Amino acid sequence: MKKIISLLLIMSISISLAACKESSGEKEKDGSKIYVSVTFDALAEFTKAVGQDKVEVATIIPAGTEPHDFEPKAADIARLSDSEVFVYNGLGMEAWAEETIAAAENNSLTVVIASEHADTLKNSGEEADEHGAYDPHLWLSIKGAQTQVRNIADGLASADPENKAFYEKNADSYIAELETLFQEYKGKFDSLENKNFVTGHAAFNYFCRDFGLVQNSVADIFAEGEPGTKQLADLVDYCRENNVTTIFAEETGNADISRTLAKEVGADVQTIYTMENPEDGKTYLERMRDNCLNVYESLSVQ
Ligand SMILES: [Zn+2]
Repeated sequence: MKKIISLLLIMSISISLAACKESSGEKEKDGSKIYVSVTFDALAEFTKAVGQDKVEVATIIPAGTEPHDFEPKAADIARLSDSEVFVYNGLGMEAWAEETIAAAENNSLTVVIASEHADTLKNSGEEADEHGAYDPHLWLSIKGAQTQVRNIADGLASADPENKAFYEKNADSYIAELETLFQEYKGKFDSLENKNFVTGHAAFNYFCRDFGLVQNSVADIFAEGEPGTKQLADLVDYCRENNVTTIFAEETGNADISRTLAKEVGADVQTIYTMENPEDGKTYLERMRDNCLNVYESLSVQ
């Protein structure tokens, strides 16, 4: 009897392993589409908006992962070997990118560094030493996103010149949608007296530059380092002095500290989207609109 049970067990394990393999296995490549690998969520959205039905987009950094800590595995290298285009952010967001591209040994891979030619912001002090010269969070700025969408369109056009006009047209209309949102909020933020808001990790320098705002945060640019007692005390003082009534928190990362801080100063906690992961089933444009609205509202009640 025991033997039969263990035999059944082995059989069922191998059946489920086989099923597992099937469901996690690489999707059959559709030869009519350009196969694009991107690093994280915002870039996947931009690429789909530009490429639409002409591209198949795969996101390398899995949903729910802290992207600043990500390290590629053999499967990711294999994926780049199979890809026609690889889109990554650059500016130190994916410190592993160049090495992984080299390891993939794919001579026909078109590489798009989405932040190329952007007007970048520099890191200083410890962050510059540990993570390189630049703040990577360009996609959280509407102006930065426009640059990235254009770069992605150029990359797709160079990999698939036949459809250049299609990619350009789609990029134009996405950039126009971004511009509408920017214009809608530019005047609103300009009219505010209070420009200071508190976020989870310091991801909003470019967003702040777009709208003349100032961020303070519970974690640094690369989502590292929980604040020490002294830093937390400084943040509490800062919130009180600036009458901060909303603390923004992210889905991954330091939400607990944001909540503690909010409780301490009697502020509300509100979600802010970093677009580093899929969030709340919302599109990039929906999340950017929510960020604009929520930051604006938190500043206008102060
Ligand atoms: Zn980040």
